[in-house]
This record gives sequence, structure tokens and C-alpha cells, in this order.
Amino acid sequence: MDKQRIEKGIVYLVGAGPGDPGLLTLKAQKLIKECDVLVYDHLANRRLHEWASADCLLIDVGKSPGRHTVEQAEIGKILVEKATEGLKVVRLKGGDPFVFGRCAEEMLALDEAQIPYEIVPGVTAALACAAYAGIPLSHREYGSSICFLTGHEDVAKESLRVDFAKFSEVGGTLCIYMGMSKLEEIVEKLLSGGLDQNRPAAIVSQGTLPSQRKIVSPLGKLVEQARAENLGAPAIIFVGNSIGLARSSTWFDQAPLFGRQIVLTRSCGQQSKMRASLERLGAEVLDLPLIEIQPSEDRKLIAEVFAGIATYEWVVLQVRTEPGIS
Ligand code: SAH
Repeated sequence: MDKQRIEKGIVYLVGAGPGDPGLLTLKAQKLIKECDVLVYDHLANRRLHEWASADCLLIDVGKSPGRHTVEQAEIGKILVEKATEGLKVVRLKGGDPFVFGRCAEEMLALDEAQIPYEIVPGVTAALACAAYAGIPLSHREYGSSICFLTGHEDVAKESLRVDFAKFSEVGGTLCIYMGMSKLEEIVEKLLSGGLDQNRPAAIVSQGTLPSQRKIVSPLGKLVEQARAENLGAPAIIFVGNSIGLARSSTWFDQAPLFGRQIVLTRSCGQQSKMRASLERLGAEVLDLPLIEIQPSEDRKLIAEVFAGIATYEWVVLQVRTEPGIS
């Protein structure tokens, strides 16, 4: 790479993983910490932004359904513009950038503008959902191929992108992305293509997040079950014999606080330890700092509070351990 190109800045197209921040690669974390501009959308967990430096420019390019084309071109433009200013740009993409992630379009825009770029893979949703939901994707006797398919690329598009009836003949394990809005049609096509009503199937929604939910059901009953459980996007639909080996519950959904939302009202900067402990127990933690703790030099005020201390029902003492404060 010559000097002139380095001065142009650089873009990293980075996989953010499926949701659980712990599934981000070390390389991705390092790039987020070091970048000047972070471009993200709704599929990348917002918690990842916390690693960005205080002066990093955050740009939200979240897409609304049906408006892909214009926005995709705009995203390409933003990446080119910022890199041309000589900045180090990270474009965070949910899961893996090359799996239904529209990374190719962004890559072409960068190529055209002769902007240097690198691609950092991420854990794709199908693999992560399978692992966190205890659903094996292969087995020596039950499944020797794994296919990644997409239901649609754009909710506004009427027709399915893939001929699902043909995939009935392929067998193995099917992992279907972006399929929830066309679930009924997909199942119908798979059945009419020859798959048995009893072929094991599953849906994992919000995989790897504390809000993860799943159903495991024979293919013939999948639509009914998904409706009964009110499962929605983002979700992966799995179909295949190895899905029949799925565990009904896993280490992930057995955590004592799994499925609970806990609001932390502690002051900014105080939550992280408590949050880590609650998250380890499976809770989804929302930060809502309602108090701010500040040292007070106003001795008169302190004396007044102490004089009336008997009138309080609770006294909360905070032990500070920073050097120089006693
Ligand atoms: N590049 C991404 C896929 C983007 S397409 C990847 O590699 O994972 C968006 C689709 O991914 C969603 O419609 C859904 O099918 C799937 N998806 C993304 N995150 C998910 C999650 N946490 N749980 C279940 N499915 C998810």
C-alpha cells in the first residue's frame, strides 16, 4: 500500500456478531477502540459503542424496511467521504459482514473510490443461535450439509428469493435468515417439495441476547407454534434431522435471571461491576442513572444533614477507595 493511499484513511468492514458483546472478536474490539468514525446500524449491539473513544464520531445508518437501495448508496458515500478525510472508519455490521450483510455493495463503493479497506469476520447469527439454543447443525448420521438461505432481502419485495421446494431435495440442515415475514410460504414450499411434516424444525429469535426465545417443533406445526409463541424477527429458522437432537433448555436459558429485565439506577460510572454480575446471571440490564454522587466541600450543609440524621429511615454510606480520599 503506498503512502498516498494511507493518507486517504481506511475503512474496516467489521462483523459485530449476533448480539452478545462477548462474541465480538478481539480484532473488532481493538478497531472500535481505535477508530475515528464508527458507522453502525440496528443489528449491531449498541453496547459495543461503549468501547469507542470519547471523541469518536458515531454515525447511525439504521435502515428502515423498503428503503434499502437509497440508503445503501448513502452508506457507501459516507464511508468514502470519511476515509477521504484521512480518518480511520469502522463500519460495524451485525453477525458476519459477508453473510447477507450487504458488505459486497460497500466493498464495491470503496473499490471504486480507491479507498483501502479490510474485512473482519464475525460470528454469524445461524451459528450463534444454534449454539446458544442447544441445536446441533450437523451429526454424522443426521445431517452432513448445512445451507444458509435467505427468505427475503427486502420486506417490501413480494416474492421469495430462494426456491425452497428445491432445497427440500438437498436435505441436510437449512438455516434460513430473514424468513419470519414469509414463514408460512417457506414452510409450504418445503412441504410441497417433499419434506416430511415430521421433519424437525426450530426457530430462535433474538439469539444470544437475554431476550432469546426458541421453539422446536415438527415442520408441519412450525407456523402454528410460532404464532402461539408470538415469535418475531430477528430470527433464524432451522430445518433438518439434526435439529431433532436439540436440547429443550441450555446453560444459556437456565441462568437464574434469564428473561428478566433489570433497570440499574446507580450513578454513571458505578454500574459496570453490578451490571457484569447481573449479566453473568442472565439478566438484561438497562442503565437508567437517577442519582449522581459528588463530593461536597460545603461543611455547613454536611453539619445540617448530620444534625437531622435521626429523622432519616435509611443512611447509605459509600466507602471510597481512591487514593487521597479518606
Ligand atoms: N450478517 C448477518 C445477517 C444479516 S441479515 C449475520 O451474519 O448474522 C439479518 C438477519 O439475520 C435477520 O433477519 C435474522 O434472520 C438474522 N439475525 C441477525 N441477528 C440475529 C439474532 N440475534 N437472532 C436471530 N437471528 C438473527
